[in-house]
Amino acid sequence: MNDIKEIFSLLNTTDSNDMALIEKAYNFSLKAHTGHVRNSGEPYFNHLFATAKNIAELGMGATTIAAGFLHDIVEDTSVKREELEKEFGPEILFLVEGVTKLGKIKYRGTTRYNESLRKLFVAMSQDIRVLIIKLCDRLHNMQTLQYVRQEKQMRIAKETLEIYAPIASRLGIKKLQRELEDLAFSYVYPQEYKDLQKLLKTKGEEQERYLEKFEKQIKKHLAENNIIHFRIDHRVKGLYSLFKKLSQKDMDIEKIYDISALRITVPEIPDCYRILGIIHGSWRPLPGRIKDYIASPKLNGYRSIHTTIFSGDGGIIEVQIRTEDMHREAEYGIASHLSYKEGSKKKTTNPSLLWVTKILPAKNHTEEGTSKVAADIPHWVKELVEYQKEAGDEFIEDIKDDFFKERIFVFTPIGDVIDLPKDSSVVDFAYAIHTDIGNKMAGAKINGKFVAINTTLQNGDCVEVETKKNAKPSSKWIPYCKTTVAKRHIRSELEKNK
Ligand code: MN
Repeated sequence: MNDIKEIFSLLNTTDSNDMALIEKAYNFSLKAHTGHVRNSGEPYFNHLFATAKNIAELGMGATTIAAGFLHDIVEDTSVKREELEKEFGPEILFLVEGVTKLGKIKYRGTTRYNESLRKLFVAMSQDIRVLIIKLCDRLHNMQTLQYVRQEKQMRIAKETLEIYAPIASRLGIKKLQRELEDLAFSYVYPQEYKDLQKLLKTKGEEQERYLEKFEKQIKKHLAENNIIHFRIDHRVKGLYSLFKKLSQKDMDIEKIYDISALRITVPEIPDCYRILGIIHGSWRPLPGRIKDYIASPKLNGYRSIHTTIFSGDGGIIEVQIRTEDMHREAEYGIASHLSYKEGSKKKTTNPSLLWVTKILPAKNHTEEGTSKVAADIPHWVKELVEYQKEAGDEFIEDIKDDFFKERIFVFTPIGDVIDLPKDSSVVDFAYAIHTDIGNKMAGAKINGKFVAINTTLQNGDCVEVETKKNAKPSSKWIPYCKTTVAKRHIRSELEKNK
């Protein structure tokens, strides 16, 4: 249990410095979390080991794995940030603090917030590795969710479904997305989960029979055409993804052709098209279901050829054809491009994923600061939001600002995100919404609780301003203002009221 060799075996390097770093983080974390237990009663270190292992499984490098071991250390132990920096340097401290910061954003269970929260999450992470650590942390928390109090279970599972899994999807990390979704599904929709399992029992078995028979035939055809370098496997659709698709098709499982699919993986792109030709030469494809994501990749970078054919004995089968590189990328997405020695600048080969490396590079603390990163931003944003129509110019404009540094993000009661300079107060918030709201402010609530007007806002706070007709701003408010807008409005209103 918790054998560091398990992690070493997942590394794609045997660099002794890398191994030494991981081992140091392992020991440091083990010691710092001594006596600390989880809800399940098991040692807390199990969680850190599992998180680090999830990170290693994605092919990430030693720095990120080490940060995975240390991700809860500042929050949950007596180790101070200075000590962590002294032992592991600024880069690991940065990653750990990034993960800690993200942990403070809470899902409030209103669908209106979701897109804003996702943006907030990605923007706040500042470094793609912070997001990946957070996703791997969440994966283990989902795997052990049965030990958590019931109300909390629901909040975490919903947050996973609405925030974490979509982010994994946008980063192209299909493997994480599928695992997160399927774990959360049973908590958020318990009845639907049970129904679907029942439905799949008969339909899925039938489909598997068609697939097995087809697999034998296709192998024969490929051999006759002298194609010998290929790998075939069955991919079973994730339960939640099946559920979503079924919801769009009146829950009619007969309309779903890819409950399971046959996946053929080959060395080179021309092989993909040859195989497509061989398949279509012998089996009739369903019209409108041939998709060439190699020629036109999906926005998240996904590449593959899909076709659905009549198997000839009543079955309908989806076949996916791709190269090994595409397969790795489809499962591990952006992570498959970060698995180089961190800090170096290897270019991704997939242009659709360039945006991520551009905006959220593995942050290099020696060569360039965040300002240069911020300058590169607008380019990625369009592609960050997979649903372009939702993206809007507004968000892109927001980002042009010095978005990453010294900003906080808070919500209005209806879920709009307001970004303000760090250390802004309720007064700044009120004036950021509307001059009249600021001028008529009589009180404010943060996350449902009344607070003093000089209260400093934190990332992810939901702020509600109470107004009264006869309320007036006071000159005492000015020292609490971080924004010039608020100061200016207060002064002009004071002038008017004189
Ligand atoms: Mn954790």
